[in-house]
Amino acid sequence: MSENIIKQLEGIVGPDHATSKDFELHAYSRDWSYEGPLMPEYIVAPATTEEVSEVMKLANSTDTPVTLRGGGTTTTGMSLPREGGIVLDINRMNKIYGIDEDAMTVTMDAGATVYEVIKYIEQRGWKVSLKPKFGSGVSVAGWTSFNGVGAGGCVLGRVTDFTVGLEVVLPTGEIVNTGSLSYKGAKQFCRYQGTGPDLTGLFMNTFGTMGVMTKITWRVYRIAEAFGMTGFGFDTPEDMQEGVRVLTEANISYGINLYDDEMADIAGLPKAAPWVIHHFVEGWQEEVDFRLKKGKEIMAAAGVGREVEAIPFWYGVEGMTSRLEPSHRTICVGGFHSIGTTAAVMHAYNDVGKKHNLRRGMVWWVINHYCNVFPIYVYNEEEELEKVIQAATDLRYAWADVGCTPDYPGPNPDITHLIVPEYLDFYKKVKMALDPNHIMHRGMSPKVEY
Ligand SMILES: Cc1cc2nc3c(=O)[nH]c(=O)nc-3n(C[C@H](O)[C@H](O)[C@H](O)COP(=O)(O)OP(=O)(O)OC[C@H]3O[C@@H](n4cnc5c(N)ncnc54)[C@H](O)[C@@H]3O)c2cc1C
Repeated sequence: MSENIIKQLEGIVGPDHATSKDFELHAYSRDWSYEGPLMPEYIVAPATTEEVSEVMKLANSTDTPVTLRGGGTTTTGMSLPREGGIVLDINRMNKIYGIDEDAMTVTMDAGATVYEVIKYIEQRGWKVSLKPKFGSGVSVAGWTSFNGVGAGGCVLGRVTDFTVGLEVVLPTGEIVNTGSLSYKGAKQFCRYQGTGPDLTGLFMNTFGTMGVMTKITWRVYRIAEAFGMTGFGFDTPEDMQEGVRVLTEANISYGINLYDDEMADIAGLPKAAPWVIHHFVEGWQEEVDFRLKKGKEIMAAAGVGREVEAIPFWYGVEGMTSRLEPSHRTICVGGFHSIGTTAAVMHAYNDVGKKHNLRRGMVWWVINHYCNVFPIYVYNEEEELEKVIQAATDLRYAWADVGCTPDYPGPNPDITHLIVPEYLDFYKKVKMALDPNHIMHRGMSPKVEY
């Protein structure tokens, strides 16, 4: 059977782009997380959408699991094969098709890197709403699938908010376009086109469980004339929550992000206060001046924070993990929560870190009018692995207790049982309709039995 599959994969993509050789499989058995090694049986790297379609048809007809992989940078084990099968590497599909200035969009292959796309559009005077902080290996598909985040989401939202449409290969091999391109004669200029539900959303934040994104179109925005930021420091999570609340309600920020003094240690930032938020503004110079002044007035009136030096550490495509000693790694536990639960979420993160005696650091953003929390715990891989897995589990449950939802589903701990049963049934129906043989990312949360 396996000889037969590798021969057919080679037939689809050419012998140089499919392998079942042990030493090559090992390279795909880990990602940036502590998980693994989890071994695939085959690697295949298609160059075109049609090749992806052929691979999916083969996988379906042979009941072979498929796991999608871009840069393999998740700190969460999301690109690892849990039940063997094929790892489909999208990195050969990396073309940027250019900016459509009429539609105000940029379209690229799923395997283009975020770094290259951001550089490409910025050189032409455009931007997406966010500036992430990671290295150059992250793919557009990985970031879209992850529903990425970064500085700048208060007004324009996160990746799912600026994704206009997709070309997707369904698990059964059909190729479809979502967004306005789904209407005859229209190009890709908007996500909703009056012909039914938001089918683009079916593939967002789903981590390769619903289909293979092959081309992605993002909205682009003109780079603003001016930019400014103010730092505000707070002594307690409660004060910080109130400061964030008044700023968010005022609707004057382009971005609000936070770091704590623990993260300041790790990232080499000045320790200005236990909790520091950055209030970013963009626009015309007069607008920037006004918004910065207004932000300071609002904060002074609230009486909870003080102005501190603002460090533009979030503005740049780079990583911070390289600052740690080689034996140390980080685990991230991400979640979403309302503004009003900010203090409770921060206390839970600190309590779990203290309980397990783990070095930690908090980063966090306001996205539209809700929050994305993304702290790290630092651990020594040889000595503290079990401890950090327990800490991640404890934090997930502590956050669930205060009404925080996860921003990715697992795999550790599996959160399937925390999903409302009626919603899980609905999810299962959609999943079974798209992926009838359950070949996509088997073993991933939410776990549904067919
Ligand atoms: C140091 C560091 C800093 C970070 N900072 C940020 C940050 O500032 N903002 C932020 O948003 N994130 C941040 N992240 C997380 C980052 O967003 C993810 O690691 C990244 O998006 C994953 O992209 P990737 O190409 O490596 O995908 P992979 O890790 O290869 O895959 C990620 C998921 O996408 C799925 N996938 C891959 N290709 C496809 C496809 N074609 N179609 C459908 N699904 C697919 C995979 O199956 C997997 O579930 C950071 C990570 C690190 C390590």
